Amino acid sequence: MRTDQRGSAGVIGLGNMGLPMARTLIRKGFTVYGYDVLEERRELAAASGVIVCSGVPEVMGATAYPVLSLPTAREVEEVVEAAGALLGPGRCERTIVIDTSTSEPDVSRRLSARLAAAGHGFLDAPVSGAPIGAAAGTLTMMIGGAEADAAYARPVIEALASKIMHVGPNGSGNVAKLVNNLLVAAHMVSTGEALRLASAAGLDAESALRVINASTGRSAISEVHFPNWIMSNRFECGYTMGLMRKDVRLVLDIAEQAGVALPLGEHVAQLWLDSTDRLDDAEDFTRMGAFTDPSASET
Ligand code: NAD
Repeated sequence: MRTDQRGSAGVIGLGNMGLPMARTLIRKGFTVYGYDVLEERRELAAASGVIVCSGVPEVMGATAYPVLSLPTAREVEEVVEAAGALLGPGRCERTIVIDTSTSEPDVSRRLSARLAAAGHGFLDAPVSGAPIGAAAGTLTMMIGGAEADAAYARPVIEALASKIMHVGPNGSGNVAKLVNNLLVAAHMVSTGEALRLASAAGLDAESALRVINASTGRSAISEVHFPNWIMSNRFECGYTMGLMRKDVRLVLDIAEQAGVALPLGEHVAQLWLDSTDRLDDAEDFTRMGAFTDPSASET
């Protein structure tokens, strides 16, 4: 089935991130093979020009560059498992799995060791930049894995990301993404609190945000998420509460494994984990920044 290796890519997981990534690859001239467990996502992908496959093995059989965009490490392991012998030593074409999911360092290390033993490669290549960055091909990608594997997958990586950082061996891309998301989780809460304080102390939130964004308290959250999704009451940046809760749980896991205490980080993580009565997993994560008093509904 495989024709021109260098001109093809696969996308497994055609969700908020995977589908715009697939569209970007198509726009940049790749033949894209895709698969998602949800029929609705497969239909949207087909309408965008993705060659929709019957399952993971068909995608793996069609391209040497399968890109994964899956919710958690569990699905990443399932998909690599489902590829079966197609990622085994008998396959003559070298395949590099490019895992853009926010996954777990231990899982990336285990999968990369397994694929390397069969002559293939695995990159933990999580991304930052939201669905809008995936659609534009301007994601930031933080890569953990062998230099040779990253070089081999370079055309696909460059089509998806405009800021590419190879940060170390397998697992280090995941660590980079998780520490970044610890800050995202904290900024979402702290910026919301700052605006709530401004408002209660007599300064309107819009003026306070204008000042913050011209001053040292700013962050991507205050510059992008607050104006676009929170102050506008749109709450649809495309990243869910459930995914951020997964990320803060993983932050706590790697902190425990590394023996590092995070007095503030643990508190921030707990705020996200304890908010399930107000915000369910399907809600957009920008809801957490709404600068109303989170305890208001309890009083
Ligand atoms: P999503 O839930 O919208 O998409 C995941 C897709 O994977 C879904 O369509 C789901 O049906 C599909 N899927 C699940 N199991 C599968 C399987 N076994 N085989 C094939 N498809 C399967 O999530 P998302 O927002 O696109 O995020 C994907 C990953 O990227 C997550 O790990 C997330 O943490 C990370 N991420 C998301 C964003 C964002 O802004 N949304 C930004 C950076 C990183």
